[in-house]
Amino acid sequence: MALTAPVKEAATSAQVTRQKTIGYAATAADAALAPFSFERREVLPRDVQIEILFCGVCHSDLHTARNEWQNTIYPVVPGHEIVGRITKAGSEVTKFKEGGLAGVGCMVDSCRTCPSCKDGLEQYCIPGFTGTYNSDDKILGGVTYGGYSKTIVVNEDFVLRLPENLDLAAVAPLLCAGITTYSPLRHWKVGKGQKVGIVGLGGLGHMGVKLANAMGAHAVLFTTSANKKEDGKRLGAAEVVVSRNQAEMDKHLDSFDFILDTVSAAHDINAYLNLLKRDATLTQVGAPEVLNVSPFSLIFRRRQLAGSLIGGIAETQEMLDFCGEHGITSDIEIIPIRKINEAYERMLKSDVKYRFVIDMGSLG
Ligand code: NAP
Ligand code: ZN
Ligand code: ZN
Repeated sequence: MALTAPVKEAATSAQVTRQKTIGYAATAADAALAPFSFERREVLPRDVQIEILFCGVCHSDLHTARNEWQNTIYPVVPGHEIVGRITKAGSEVTKFKEGGLAGVGCMVDSCRTCPSCKDGLEQYCIPGFTGTYNSDDKILGGVTYGGYSKTIVVNEDFVLRLPENLDLAAVAPLLCAGITTYSPLRHWKVGKGQKVGIVGLGGLGHMGVKLANAMGAHAVLFTTSANKKEDGKRLGAAEVVVSRNQAEMDKHLDSFDFILDTVSAAHDINAYLNLLKRDATLTQVGAPEVLNVSPFSLIFRRRQLAGSLIGGIAETQEMLDFCGEHGITSDIEIIPIRKINEAYERMLKSDVKYRFVIDMGSLG
């Protein structure tokens, strides 16, 4: 077998200087999030340091804080919908300047050499991308810590430019909820003349409704919450179906060109597969631990079931630019960081309209 030279690291953990910062962390699956001190690296030549102004609250933060995917390394500082101001730029940074605004989503690095990275699909990096939190920190050692914190230091290749015409706090959720819905809608070429279903009106779902509508599709929202009907229409759904009502569901059998399922908990996915036309696709982005699929839901109309993970850096930039052009932001409720545990409980009750965003100034 041929030997290959190890990839030269930009810096090893011994050479990197550290600085203290603070955030909120969970220390166990059943522990409330609480203040936590930790270290970030000082900027390396291609890094920017960002003072975090706002951070969105994704259901993945909750799944991770509570170890629902059985992969959490404690303490965990969640948060991957980060917007803020650049307070320091390394000597070789070309895309950003001190004082400017910037965003960070779910990834802070990847191998950069595998076929997925070469295709600009870093989210499918074969050795695995470095997540903004709960990943191996390849530079400092230990684990990466996310956006429920005062500052973050990220290589500029994984930092996004933000549209300047949009409300900054309401842009934060685009960094995960926005790209996670934009990417599959684009990949499956959603557009004019198509009937597209969005399942679940939470953080992802409400972005899915807005984006599918902006792409010209006839968007149909499926919700378990009858009280979200009006909001669904206001957000851009041409029709809203309360999925607990079987008669309403039956009206849509065999009629969809595409369905995007954003539901965070176990549910009957076959009920939605049966609404697809022949050869159409349902893409799962919501991530409950298990979903039971009946083969017959697929076999009888040659239907397809797919999944999709966030989006690559280039596509995230494309999505932000698209939102800038179309005036699209998230509908948000701003909270101080001390209310994060309460926000998690409300998210579990589907009581969020439609994304909590933490005002990081509240961290003190
Ligand atoms: P969220 O704001 O909590 O929204 C989830 C929505 O799902 C709820 O608002 C509710 O909508 C519906 N729902 C919840 N429990 C349900 C149940 N038992 N049965 C049926 N519907 C239910 O969560 P989110 O932040 O949008 O995240 C959604 C999921 O996507 C999470 O699992 C998250 O981890 C995952 N995610 C995946 C990716 C990816 O790359 N694939 C990226 C980010 C997040 P209604 O009230 O309208 O029914
Ligand atoms: Zn997320
Ligand atoms: Zn890679």
